[in-house]
Amino acid sequence: MWGLVRGQANPHVSRLRKHIGDVRITTGDLLDQGSLISAVERVQPDEVYNLGAISYVPMSWQQAELTAEVTGMGVLRTLEAIRVVSGVSASRTPGREQIRFYQASSSEMFGMVRETPQNEKTPFHPRSPYGVAKTYGHYITQNYRESYGMFAVSGILFNHESPRRGAEFVTRKVSLGVARIKLGLAAELRLGNLDARRDWGFAGDYARAMRMMLAQESPEDYVIGTGRTRSVRDLVEFAFRTAGLDWERYVVLDGKYTRPAEVDLLCADPKKAREQLGWEPEVGFEELVTMMVESDLRLLGGSRRP
Ligand code: GDP
Repeated sequence: MWGLVRGQANPHVSRLRKHIGDVRITTGDLLDQGSLISAVERVQPDEVYNLGAISYVPMSWQQAELTAEVTGMGVLRTLEAIRVVSGVSASRTPGREQIRFYQASSSEMFGMVRETPQNEKTPFHPRSPYGVAKTYGHYITQNYRESYGMFAVSGILFNHESPRRGAEFVTRKVSLGVARIKLGLAAELRLGNLDARRDWGFAGDYARAMRMMLAQESPEDYVIGTGRTRSVRDLVEFAFRTAGLDWERYVVLDGKYTRPAEVDLLCADPKKAREQLGWEPEVGFEELVTMMVESDLRLLGGSRRP
């Protein structure tokens, strides 16, 4: 297994090595077409998973053009690298040994949702530059499949979380906040919109779904989620309760964390994945939140010891 990093002194490489023992690292940048062609030539992969993106939604308003380049155009460049290295053109469709491509599409593409729950046929209405860039990535993946017969699929994944989630996302911000308050390291937790609803699942379950999609006979897109939606308030209430705390004493609303345009409600209809892939999530919401809070209590509790 290979991981792609931008090169130079990337601080995330050691973290990656710690978690996935036998991963080899090569360099390439989603902004640089030539570097991606070289990487595909060097590695000769059977499968390529594009999980690379500027993925924090608020950042996408601050760096809208960079988000379009990395999160959107980066998909095109990766597809092109695969196409060029495989020698695929419109007149010459790939043979049986083609490189399989997975694109990390996102429930943020549904944005202001047209129906609930959302399935593979639900129209898109993205609400952030991130959502717009992901929508481009989704359509260009579909287009390369239709234009060149490439084995290219999109997984439309709803929010997926784990103790490794970045601290800026609401689940990890809450689990870290609860742990800090419980350990006496903080007195409050500042949050934005508590009414937003998301379909939160466990990242490990979702990574399993990605691999299942590439193991299918034919390339198709799938919605991956739990089918249950909860508000940020539900998340906060449950996370504080697992640590024996009353959230209302600690949570402070802060307008800094509200967004120019919000995605109010996301809820997956994962029927196709269940029926065609045989995929089911194994970790539920309560187990996920408990896992994250306990992990952060250990992390911060451990680091406090002399
Ligand atoms: P997203 O769904 O990919 O944007 O994932 P996030 O975890 O960043 O946000 C999920 C939801 O939580 C959004 O509707 C946010 O508006 C809401 N939210 C409320 N307070 C916060 C906060 O302090 N930080 C973040 N990241 N999200 C918050």
